[in-house]
Amino acid sequence: MDFTQIGEVLEGEPKYRLAQAKRGIFVDLVEDWEQVTAFPKALRARLAVDFPLPIEAQTFGDTKMTAVKALIRLSDGKRIETVLMRHTDGRNTVCVSSQVGCPMACAFCATGKMSLLRSLSASEIVLQVLFFARLLKPEGERVSGVVFMGMGEPFANYDNALAAVRMLNDHDGLNIGARHISISTCGILEGIRRFTSEALQVNLAISLHAPDDKTRRELMPVARTHTVLELLAVVDEYIAQTKRKVMFEYLMIGGKNDADEQAHALAKLMQGKLCMVNLIAYNSTGVFVPATRERMVFFKTVLEQAGVPVTVRFRHGREVKGACGQLLTKEDAYVLPSDVTDAASV
Ligand code: SF4
Repeated sequence: MDFTQIGEVLEGEPKYRLAQAKRGIFVDLVEDWEQVTAFPKALRARLAVDFPLPIEAQTFGDTKMTAVKALIRLSDGKRIETVLMRHTDGRNTVCVSSQVGCPMACAFCATGKMSLLRSLSASEIVLQVLFFARLLKPEGERVSGVVFMGMGEPFANYDNALAAVRMLNDHDGLNIGARHISISTCGILEGIRRFTSEALQVNLAISLHAPDDKTRRELMPVARTHTVLELLAVVDEYIAQTKRKVMFEYLMIGGKNDADEQAHALAKLMQGKLCMVNLIAYNSTGVFVPATRERMVFFKTVLEQAGVPVTVRFRHGREVKGACGQLLTKEDAYVLPSDVTDAASV
């Protein structure tokens, strides 16, 4: 489904058909053109062939769970993972992938081990949100927010990620408020600079994961291209220009980035910044071990004492292997879903 093609597919039809089609897809969330009764029968039949609406996916969990994961099969057979997070306050946030695999090779990340297979189009990013919007529809619920924190680095696919943001934000489409959309980057400085100049209300999150260059470079190859201080200088410029709060993500890994001195170094870096630090429990991918709850509480205390806003997040989706890239392996990405029947075995 390439949403940018729908105008072409409807060429020769009256102009208002485009608005009707978009309404059908994004507002009424139809899964079959037969449900768009405003269209003549022949047009419905043609669209079923030229612009089919079904989304092929394998779902893990159900909407009663705090997290529902889906593997969506793309038109070339590659698959991407996407997660719906259901919050206790009623919000429904979709965590989207921006690439199949990822070129950034972070040491703690399962997706990073896949390397990059390809980037997603804007439509393929939006498709993930549409999938969950349809899933929630029978409950009278909607997707209220989107975070770009799934597979891939959004700023390594900048143009398509930003085009997807605009599609998601479209008032005549899924109408997800910009303030409810967050883009997370591992620290691509050029991407942050471009994002600063977009003047969007979209939130920015930075995967920091270590306060010192040595540890950060061991965890994240991208950190070899800049220092922590250089990254923070670019973020400071973003804050100065946009007056928007930045989220710093800190994955807590036992014996790696959870030492006392790292807590104090982190607090020092964050002090006085318009930011929030999000301490995230690590879901082990086999290489590292999670930090203990005590270490997380220690970090939280140190940051609070320094006056730094902080939250501690135990990951949504642990029950469906919800950490980035943990469901899909490299081999899976090449295999069509038809031969995967047992969700528990994936
Ligand atoms: S953590 Fe994010 S940026 Fe790093 S390898 Fe995984 S998907 Fe890519």
